[in-house]
Amino acid sequence: MLWQISHANVEFYKDEDGWFLMFITPCEQLLDDGQCGIYKQRPDICREYENDYCEYDASAEEGFELYFKSYKELITYCQKRFKKFP
Ligand code: SF4
Repeated sequence: MLWQISHANVEFYKDEDGWFLMFITPCEQLLDDGQCGIYKQRPDICREYENDYCEYDASAEEGFELYFKSYKELITYCQKRFKKFP
């Protein structure tokens, strides 16, 4: 996770369903008109996504148990959480 969050525009959160990695960048398959450029071949994660409830209904952050926006935030948490963490 520390390696992943070291990259630009990558964040993590944890909610009641577990840990999730967020890429704060638009998908390269997203067309200017808002449609998917590879709709018929879109990945399973896109097929499984439901938008009946989304961030327009309520801030996603309200449901986050933990939220890390940077390497520094995550390593600070790890150092407090795990006594033997370097
Ligand atoms: S459906 Fe998936 S692949 Fe298509 S634009 Fe959205 S995120 Fe990208």
